[in-house]
Amino acid sequence: MSDGRHRQPIWRSVAVLTVVLAAGLLCTMQPPGWRTLLTYELPGFGAAVAVLFGVRCYRPQSASAWRLLALGIMTSVLADFLWDSEGLLPVDPKVFGHLVDACYLLTYPAYLLAAVWFLGGRASKRDTTLLLDGAIYALAGWLALWVLVVHPQLAGGGLGAWDWLPTVLYPPLDVMVLILVWRLGRGDIRRTAPWLLISAAFTTMFVADGLYALLAMPTSGWVSDALDVSWLMAYAGLAAAAVHPGMRYLIANPEPTVRDHDRVRVVALGLALVTPFLLILLAPEDLDAVGDLLVPVGLLLVLATAVRFTISSHRNRDAETALAFRATHDSLTGLANRASLLDCLELATRRAARNHESCSVLFLDLDDFKIVNDSLGHAVGDQLLRTVADRLRRFARAEECVARLGGDEFVVVLEGIRGIDDAIEAAERLVGLFDESFSLGATDVHLTASVGVVPDAERSVGDVESVLRDADLAMYEAKQSEARRISIFEPTMHQHAIARLEIKNALRTAISDGELRLVFQPIFDTVTRRPIASEALLRWHRADGSVVAPLDFIPIAEASHAILPIGEWVVETAARELASIGASDLAISVNVSPRQLADPNFADHVLEACRRTGLAPERMILELTESALVEPDPTVDLNLEALGAAGFQMAIDDFGTGYSSLAYLTRLEIDWIKIDQIFVSGLGRNPSDETLVRAIIHMAHDLGLRVIAEGVETQAQLEVLTNLGRDAVQGFLLARPSSQLVAVTDELAPVESTGAQYR
Ligand code: C2E
Ligand code: MG
Ligand code: MG
Repeated sequence: MSDGRHRQPIWRSVAVLTVVLAAGLLCTMQPPGWRTLLTYELPGFGAAVAVLFGVRCYRPQSASAWRLLALGIMTSVLADFLWDSEGLLPVDPKVFGHLVDACYLLTYPAYLLAAVWFLGGRASKRDTTLLLDGAIYALAGWLALWVLVVHPQLAGGGLGAWDWLPTVLYPPLDVMVLILVWRLGRGDIRRTAPWLLISAAFTTMFVADGLYALLAMPTSGWVSDALDVSWLMAYAGLAAAAVHPGMRYLIANPEPTVRDHDRVRVVALGLALVTPFLLILLAPEDLDAVGDLLVPVGLLLVLATAVRFTISSHRNRDAETALAFRATHDSLTGLANRASLLDCLELATRRAARNHESCSVLFLDLDDFKIVNDSLGHAVGDQLLRTVADRLRRFARAEECVARLGGDEFVVVLEGIRGIDDAIEAAERLVGLFDESFSLGATDVHLTASVGVVPDAERSVGDVESVLRDADLAMYEAKQSEARRISIFEPTMHQHAIARLEIKNALRTAISDGELRLVFQPIFDTVTRRPIASEALLRWHRADGSVVAPLDFIPIAEASHAILPIGEWVVETAARELASIGASDLAISVNVSPRQLADPNFADHVLEACRRTGLAPERMILELTESALVEPDPTVDLNLEALGAAGFQMAIDDFGTGYSSLAYLTRLEIDWIKIDQIFVSGLGRNPSDETLVRAIIHMAHDLGLRVIAEGVETQAQLEVLTNLGRDAVQGFLLARPSSQLVAVTDELAPVESTGAQYR
């Protein structure tokens, strides 16, 4: 709740309270019998109208509760009016008295209902015990009052038991209302003026009703005047609450938590149960005369207490079960969580080892789940995860454990497996679950998953953490290979994982230690037969003298974000190299990874690098991968827009190996397509490759794009490409990557490049 809510103007409330108090005090100065329609009922009626005015003014969510409060006040004012008209109407005074009391008692259903409404519009299970608490206090209070006040009065003659009955009902009923109001006053609500005013109103009512009963219904004198003013002020308190703007927020949060077995509550209830019976036992007079009423009410008290504790202990058990479920299950999908998976796995491996069977662990990770989350939103992502969980549940047998480890990772433990073939067959069925698309509201989502398999988990009894780690490693391997979606764990995977980790750590200092270098491979124009650009390719010269190829460390750098500083270094170094040689007709081509492109600062970094090195943006080609472009991403688009506007050229690297969607070609401003080596390598040998390359070249030209053929290794390939009409070529046949940018100025022909040679 914002502070603003607490600083709402209170002048209206103060005005209401002042006017009613003034009216009350003014009237007490009049001679006895001052309570008249004008001086008492009118302010009371005004209070009810003020409540309705507040509802009209502020349109609270809890309007019905406020209207019920107004109804309660009106009923009470009607009872006041009847009371004050005693003698004016030709009715038997006894009957008349009962009529007045009935009218006063009718206010309580309205007040109680209003309080329940404020508590969320419905009495939730939790509020049942609260209402029962209220009933217990009310019954105990009633019994105590009956023994302490009513019985001595009855013994003294005068009014009969039935005349006293309503009088001792008011304070207990006030207590019931008060308990609900206090329950409402949780957290921020407790600090709002309306809540304070309502609590004060009902407390005043309780005190006045209590005194009225304890003092044996005083009807004249200053005590009686004070009580009259108090009741009037109780109406005024409710009205003052309703005309305060904060009245809008007087509604309980949907599930406020109250502990049923809170020690204070239990002790208070115990006291409420015991006290009246103690009073009965200790009463000096013989209580026979009123025994008729004491017995049923006493029984009711015991019954209410019994019901209250039965309900709360049932609920405690339910809550414990729910807590236990929450501790062992994933809240989104209801599948087992990591902790309970480990327990299951421990038991399953033990069972399998004992029965000489196999126990397999299938570790499943959804492919490109992030794209679903980013493009369709997290709600759809959650729905998808739930649907996947349902399919997995149906896939496994009832006794087998299916767990979600978080994110888009799931684990299935299969028991009673006969060997590795069974495990593979199960993994294939698991992958097959994704053949059918997922229909999520209006959209159908096609999804694939990668599965890592540990076929013989029973070998690791007592070390099930390692089984999960192995299955995770196998899944990682499955993800790396495009074609295979399933990978079986092998011990060498550990070595790979360790090697990856080592590379990841060493990469952190690679730039600062000057271990990164660029080599350059020229790209030739087929018309002018001269180099038009040179592609900057990264090499990592490690301290031990080894040179690491980019494909061995760039994917690791991408996964760990280290690609961002590396990418910046590449752009700046490449730009500086080209700017330093001053060859104005040559461009430099740099590779950009998807993660760089999705970095909001990427365009700024590249522009800044060109500004610092003095390289014209037109002389830099940015080689993008299809995977970064297929799904529209606002950050990627903004980066490309800014760079395109600055004059940078864009190329699609490894064209044809990524996605089948080509929509991005028309959406984005691309200048070049680089046909991947796998298509080029078949030229001159494989007619279908020739058909494909021809189709790509035609399509590119139709779209106004130019084509570079990559990886040209043979004269035959070069000839076919020349005939097909591509724009530029690059490959070992013409020039290998070299440490020197100025290596090639020769015409298109197999060339000898200077400088150190790679590959
Ligand atoms: P790429 O961008 O497709 O680069 C072409 C790769 O093919 C280079 O391998 C190059 O040496 C090799 N190549 C060129 N001509 C031939 C040929 O005739 N035959 C064969 N077999 N290969 C040829 P390299 O340098 O190992 O780079 C591999 C990949 O690593 C690059 O593929 C690129 O995707 C990535 N990479 C290289 N440098 C960077 C970089 O600075 N940043 C990023 N993000 N990726 C880079
Ligand atoms: Mg490239
Ligand atoms: Mg390429």
